[in-house]
Amino acid sequence: MTPIDPIPEEPILEPEAHGFVRGGDAALDPTLAETIVGEQPLFSGLIFNVARIDATLPSGAPAQRDIVRHPGAVAVLAVTEHGEIYLVRQYRVALDRVTVEIPAGKLDPGEDPLAAARRELAEETGLEAASMARILTIATSVGFSDELIHLYLATGLTRGAAHPDEDEFLNVDVVPVADFVDAVLDGQVEDAKTVVGALALDAISRRLAPSGLADAALDEVIVEEALEDEA
Ligand SMILES: [Mg+2]
Repeated sequence: MTPIDPIPEEPILEPEAHGFVRGGDAALDPTLAETIVGEQPLFSGLIFNVARIDATLPSGAPAQRDIVRHPGAVAVLAVTEHGEIYLVRQYRVALDRVTVEIPAGKLDPGEDPLAAARRELAEETGLEAASMARILTIATSVGFSDELIHLYLATGLTRGAAHPDEDEFLNVDVVPVADFVDAVLDGQVEDAKTVVGALALDAISRRLAPSGLADAALDEVIVEEALEDEA
């Protein structure tokens, strides 16, 4: 009987770091980069363009990537002093149904995201905010799009008349934040920026103000961040 060769063991991949390292900040990260050697437009649309990228992989092999080029967008968590949030219900043709979302819109060319957040909030809900704090930014689908959505927390709200774009029809609701988070965790909200916003809002309110969003400690942090943002 000939002995059976043992199955060769795969080398065990050790973690590079045992703590958070921002993408691009580690010494080895540049070795991951692809070199873009060409880009050709495939489609030019009303909201986004599509390009085909010719790239060289770290191994030296060529690769092609199709990328959606998008101007970026803003979305607003508009929270009242009573711990309620403004949501909009809007028909979305891509899904062919009405979705629940936080107020949002895309950036005009060269527009400052904070200004865009104030503009979109006013257009869709009629709200003006005494403070606007940038919470986080999401890349909506890094595999194929450069779209970034900047999320803001708006507080100190006062209400005027909404004036949506001519092609925009929406219904505005105001909902207790806890009910909004419950609805998201219950799978009743699919919209990505809205899901992220709900979870971020829940996490922030727990970390900074265990007694809830109306807590003065959170208000102070929000005002400080808003001042930083406006600076
Ligand atoms: Mg919109």
